[in-house]
Amino acid sequence: MKENSFCPICANKDLRLIAQQNFKVQPDSGDFSQSRMNVLLKDVINREQMAFSTMICKDCRAIFFTPTFSPEQVTKMYSPEITEANEKADAKAEGIAQKSWAQQRGILERMDSLAFQDEMMQQRAENLYSLVDSLANKPVTKVLDIGGGDGSLLKGFVHSKKYILDISRDAGQVNDLTFLSGTAEAKAQGPYDLIVLSHILEHVLDPVGFVQMYKQMLSEQSLIYVEVPIEYVSIVLKKKCAPIGQHLTFFCKRSLIEVMNRCSMQVKYMKSELINYRKMATAAIKAVMVLPGAPSENHSSKNKYPSYYLDLVGDIFLMLKKRFSSR
Ligand SMILES: [Zn+2]
Repeated sequence: MKENSFCPICANKDLRLIAQQNFKVQPDSGDFSQSRMNVLLKDVINREQMAFSTMICKDCRAIFFTPTFSPEQVTKMYSPEITEANEKADAKAEGIAQKSWAQQRGILERMDSLAFQDEMMQQRAENLYSLVDSLANKPVTKVLDIGGGDGSLLKGFVHSKKYILDISRDAGQVNDLTFLSGTAEAKAQGPYDLIVLSHILEHVLDPVGFVQMYKQMLSEQSLIYVEVPIEYVSIVLKKKCAPIGQHLTFFCKRSLIEVMNRCSMQVKYMKSELINYRKMATAAIKAVMVLPGAPSENHSSKNKYPSYYLDLVGDIFLMLKKRFSSR
C-alpha cells in the first residue's frame, strides 16, 4: 500500500477528507460487501484490518483512497484466483442470504430475467453505435474495446473490424471478433477509429496515463468512448466508501474532463444518464472524446469545466429518478 498525498488526476495537494473507515476481516454473514472485503484484506493486501481514507480533490473533484494499492496489488485483484475467491464469497453470501423465502423468489426472478439481460445488452450496443455514428467525422472501420468481455457491446458495428482486449479472455478469432493478447498486439493492430473504455477508468491507478497510452493507437479525428459509473454522489452524501468493487477513482464530469484536458482530447459529448445494466438501472457518465486533427484546432483547446455543484444537483435528481423508477 502507498499513501496518496495528492490527486491521482491533477496532482493537486489540496484535498478534503470525506470518510475514514477501518475495515476488518469478519465472519461471512450474508453481507456481500463484507465477504468481498474479506477477500480484499486476506488475499490481496494480506492484512487482518486496514484503515482507508476517502479523499476528494478540491480542484478537479476526483475521489480516491489513501492509502492506495500498488500496481502489483491491482494486477492481483484481477487474477483468476482472486476472481474465483470473489465469486465464491458472493456465492457464500448469497447462500446465507437465500434462506428466506422472499429472497429465493428474488433468485427465481433473476433467472427469469436472463432474456431481459440480453435485451438490455442489445440496447446498450445499439445506443453506443448510434451515438458514435452521430458524432464521428469519418467511418469507423476499426474499433477496439478495452475490457470488452465477450464483445457484445460492439454488436452494432456490423461493418467494422472489431478488436477486444480483455485480460479475462484468450487471444484468438471468434466469428467477427479478434481477441488480442495484450497492449503490444493492440498497438500492432492499430490505429483504430474508435476505442471504447466502458467502465474501465475507475479501475486503473493512473487514468491519465492510461488514456494517453491508448490515445497513441488512434488515427486523426478518431474517437474515444468513455463510460464511468456515477458513485461520487452517494459517497459525498453518505460519507462512506469501501474499495470493494475494485474501483479506485470515482469520477464526476469535472474530474473526467480534467483527464481529457491532460491528454489533450476534445470532449464532443458528455452526459449523465440512467443506463440499464443487466436488470438494474445505474447512473453513469457517457462521454465521447475526439483526437484533435489540425494543429490549428489544438490551442483553442482546453475543455471548459462544468460547475461541480450544478452537476451534483443534477446527478442527485438522477439518483432520485432511479429510486422511484426501480421496480
Ligand atoms: Zn484533482
